[in-house]
Amino acid sequence: MNRCFYRRDDIDHVINRIQRLLLDNGQGEAHADANTPENAIVLTDDLTPAETILLQHQGVIAFATEYGGPLSHTAILARSIQIPAVVGARGIQHYVQDGESIIIDGLQGLLIVAPDENTLAFYLEKQEKERRRNSKLATLTGQPAVTLDNIPVTLMANIELAEDIEAVSREQASGVGLYRTEFLFMNRNTPPDEEEQYASYMKVIEALGGKPLTIRTLDMGADKKIEGSSHSCSNPALGLRAIRLCLKDPSLFKPQLRAILRASVHGPVRMMIPMLSTTHELHQVLALISETRDSLLRGKLAFSPDIMIGCMIEVPAAALSAADFASHLDFLSIGTNDLIQYTLAIDRIDDEVNYLYDPLHPAVLKLVKMVIDAGKSAGVPVEMCGEMAGDPRFTRLLLGMGLTEFSMHPTALQEVKQVINSSSIALLTPLVDEILSHTDPGEVPAAVDRLNSRGQTG
Ligand code: PEP
Ligand code: MG
Repeated sequence: MNRCFYRRDDIDHVINRIQRLLLDNGQGEAHADANTPENAIVLTDDLTPAETILLQHQGVIAFATEYGGPLSHTAILARSIQIPAVVGARGIQHYVQDGESIIIDGLQGLLIVAPDENTLAFYLEKQEKERRRNSKLATLTGQPAVTLDNIPVTLMANIELAEDIEAVSREQASGVGLYRTEFLFMNRNTPPDEEEQYASYMKVIEALGGKPLTIRTLDMGADKKIEGSSHSCSNPALGLRAIRLCLKDPSLFKPQLRAILRASVHGPVRMMIPMLSTTHELHQVLALISETRDSLLRGKLAFSPDIMIGCMIEVPAAALSAADFASHLDFLSIGTNDLIQYTLAIDRIDDEVNYLYDPLHPAVLKLVKMVIDAGKSAGVPVEMCGEMAGDPRFTRLLLGMGLTEFSMHPTALQEVKQVINSSSIALLTPLVDEILSHTDPGEVPAAVDRLNSRGQTG
């Protein structure tokens, strides 16, 4: 007998969705709600990434959810569209009345109900300070990222939606290191066809004006569900997700491969495959790419024969086999969001175990270092595009581990650059080696704090 299990937030989501569709008069397409009051803040059980996109169009200025983790795609997307958000705030709907004023402090993960005048004044001042800090950081825009010992560092941007390209240009990133294409597939009943995907990629290529664009192939599954899909499994994060889904359903994958290959004629496009765990999967993908090239040739459609093909290293098995992956690919990119999730066996969207989500766990650091070293030995560039790459608390640690290519949310770029430009890799390397020798996870954060508080003199 085939048994299915559902998580509680999946059930809540289905209920919310049905309610929304009913409100939408059964159209089957979600659309903006003209009745959203000004400055609305949404409190809800949970939000999928697809619903988060809709909120943006509904004039919602902030949200808080009872469930979910800060590394979920919902939280990543909220940062990208710059909606302040707090996730995993259990019981919040119980404590807040409809129409009550609240402050959402997305930086600290705080939610303040019915703030008094002093609190309000404090937050207005805090907002102003943040604005001043950002305009100071903005003076770094356009300056190169280079360490005190003259090592250039590449800073690229992660994008979720084609509109994000504006922020990439504003922050003058060196290119896009991660384009999460799955957002093209959300809030619709049928997937975009080859032509639609090609047109979307072309828009981004044109906006980038010759800078590299890394298109990640579809990473659907887990918390990014395909609309109308009847497939369910007991543990979506470990199930039919990303490349596994694409290999199982080539009719979904092939139009994307064709669109990416065709777009590659118009700019420096790179293709990146998510969630590989064995080189066997990689060979299947490479065979499909080769078949797609043949069919484009037959159809007299142009593509670049030199398109760079790389993969994300986000499964521990792939990190341990990084040398093998490197021998078949043009670049590797470390996806720490998933690498941490899978190394520590912590569902990144489950707030109950979120306290265990630890980027500084010695096991995680060991895997990251292994991948960087494997890339170096093979002469294959290694980048990092997980959230860790855009967190300035980890910049020196990563530089000292040998990482010189980072991809992050565009708004994090100048702050990370500021750290890079005040660091010397030669000085950091022995200090970081010492940190990597720690086996007790409890000791690492303090060691990293010490690393960050040291002045560097080049
Ligand atoms: C990652 O896993 O680190 C990553 C960048 O991919 P995503 O967050 O989309 O899973
Ligand atoms: Mg990932």
